[in-house]
Amino acid sequence: MKFNENYRKLKESYLFSAVAHKVSAYTAAHPDKKVLKMGIGDVTLPLPPAVVSAMQAAVAEMGTKETFRGYGPEQGYDFLRESIRGYYTRRGISLAADEIFISDGAKSDLGNILDIFSVDNTVLIPDPVYPVYVDTNVMAGRRILFADATEENGFLPMPDDGVKADIIYICSPNNPTGAAYSVAQLQEWVNYARKQGAVILYDAAYERFVSGQGLARSIFETEGAEECAIEFCSFSKTAGFTGTRCGYTVVPHALRRGDVSCNKLWLRRQTTKFNGVPYIVQRGAAAVFTAEGERQVEENLSVYRRNARRLTDCMDVLGIRYTGGKNSPYVWLKCPGFADSRKFFDYLLEEANVVGTPGSGFGKNGQGWFRLTAFSSEEATEEAVFRIKKLFSK
Ligand SMILES: *Cc1c(COP(=O)(O)O)cnc(C)c1O
Repeated sequence: MKFNENYRKLKESYLFSAVAHKVSAYTAAHPDKKVLKMGIGDVTLPLPPAVVSAMQAAVAEMGTKETFRGYGPEQGYDFLRESIRGYYTRRGISLAADEIFISDGAKSDLGNILDIFSVDNTVLIPDPVYPVYVDTNVMAGRRILFADATEENGFLPMPDDGVKADIIYICSPNNPTGAAYSVAQLQEWVNYARKQGAVILYDAAYERFVSGQGLARSIFETEGAEECAIEFCSFSKTAGFTGTRCGYTVVPHALRRGDVSCNKLWLRRQTTKFNGVPYIVQRGAAAVFTAEGERQVEENLSVYRRNARRLTDCMDVLGIRYTGGKNSPYVWLKCPGFADSRKFFDYLLEEANVVGTPGSGFGKNGQGWFRLTAFSSEEATEEAVFRIKKLFSK
């Protein structure tokens, strides 16, 4: 037996474990101090009541002989696929229900989709970004190129015709920078991908946070994307499903190479290796698209938006440079007075008892930058803002 040697090439996520370690060491040494956690990428508001009732009703169905359900369709129940199709239709995007695959979250599908692509492909990944794209490709042994997201390009790298890539990752609004592409900018990426014969893997986990004029919520708002893009969405950050687990992936029929359909390959992959998302969870997810569910989701999002606003207002007052916060739950700031994200992390922890995430954990271009999240409670966010203001207006 031999192990997959590629796993040796993975960088230990030492940064995130070091961060957790430092926080627990600090709390143990200073039990009297109230440490505010503004670093985690998890939500804090509970599931919307409409989702909870739908799931309770589904639990009752599962416990009754007449309505009990066993194995469901691997790609998801029609009622949820139809609700999602309607959600796209309302935004002017027409999809077929069988282009939508229900998943147990965007992270699984972002990793699993690589099953259907050759290891000989070269991938292009933004830096900094959600670390899953790099790690899943390292595990498979693919060649990786990076698209530099920097202060100069507003953390929105644009395609370079000199770079040859087969699989292109785009995360918009981006985790961690909060930067969001406009439809016009995405159109350039789609044009580039079509010229190269590449596929775009578009992570839209934060699409519901987008409100800015001209900004994209889906790659399918561009022309020709159905021939070159797959979109990954999640109920996690928008409807509080981080622990409940549900997402969906859109694989258009028009995405083909010769006589091979990407949709068919993905269906074959899923029916072989996946047995679907629990009926109860899918009922909960469908409730997100009811009038009541939509309203409750919007209420939760507005809490996070207000928090983001508190953070960006604070940065404005202090004259600290940042991106995000407006169309994203993340505020990405340039560490004031520090070139090293980790040193800034230590300083903020020790002097303000505020925990954030060092930007260097998301790629080399994250060095010197820092991520704060809007997912905390309003009280904690206000307190964090108060402490940061006090610390930096000295
Ligand atoms: C949180 C996050 C995900 C994971 O979503 P799940 O549906 O919970 O697996 C995917 N992409 C990005 C960019 C994220 O930040």
